[in-house]
Amino acid sequence: IKILDARFVVTAVEPKGYPTDHSAEVAFVGRSNVGKSSMINALTNRKKLVRVSNTPGRTRTLNFFDVDLERNGQRHTVRLCDLPGYGFAKASKADKAQWEEMITTYLEKRHRLEAVVSIIDAEVGPTPDDLSTLDYLQAHNRRILVVATKIDRLNKARRKPRLVELSKAMDLPLEVILPFSSTERIGVDEVWGALLGTFGK
Ligand code: GDP
Repeated sequence: IKILDARFVVTAVEPKGYPTDHSAEVAFVGRSNVGKSSMINALTNRKKLVRVSNTPGRTRTLNFFDVDLERNGQRHTVRLCDLPGYGFAKASKADKAQWEEMITTYLEKRHRLEAVVSIIDAEVGPTPDDLSTLDYLQAHNRRILVVATKIDRLNKARRKPRLVELSKAMDLPLEVILPFSSTERIGVDEVWGALLGTFGK
């Protein structure tokens, strides 16, 4: 994988603010602080495309990015949508309802949404919020790729068995769960390969 360019497109709250729906899109979802911003930066080979925040739950918007990349001699432009993180402890009921509304509307409107990357913490495993988000995506027939991040925190011998445990805990086939580390850049090519492989299917 070669990243040719990555750029911020727009921030949106409502459909009228979404960018046009011309290119294949991938959305990223996960609880706050799971490492979503770091993952998008690692995947796009940029240090600060997405701000890595230490204030969990601050992003309450959809942020769109475009990435030009080359794989096996072919050029692709992929649009990424960074969905707001969920599950931060201080969220009020109203915050949660607003999050749900934002996500449902987005999922209903995006016709070029090819896959949703559901990010979980490899060490912590799926939280109840992670599991209900997965259920929700499956109920809406969205193609899911689970990326287990912060895998660097597990010693190497623990990684494969941990992925098997995670696949059982989520009741998903092992093939759709990929290990990742933003700090050690593990899984970048594999995640892109899996994502591009799903396009148009
Ligand atoms: P977000 O809230 O989901 O966007 O999470 P961030 O990307 O802001 O990361 C949350 C915290 O986890 C930060 O302190 C990051 O430095 C740390 N972090 C993110 N990815 C990794 C990773 O792959 N490995 C390790 N060890 N730490 C990570």
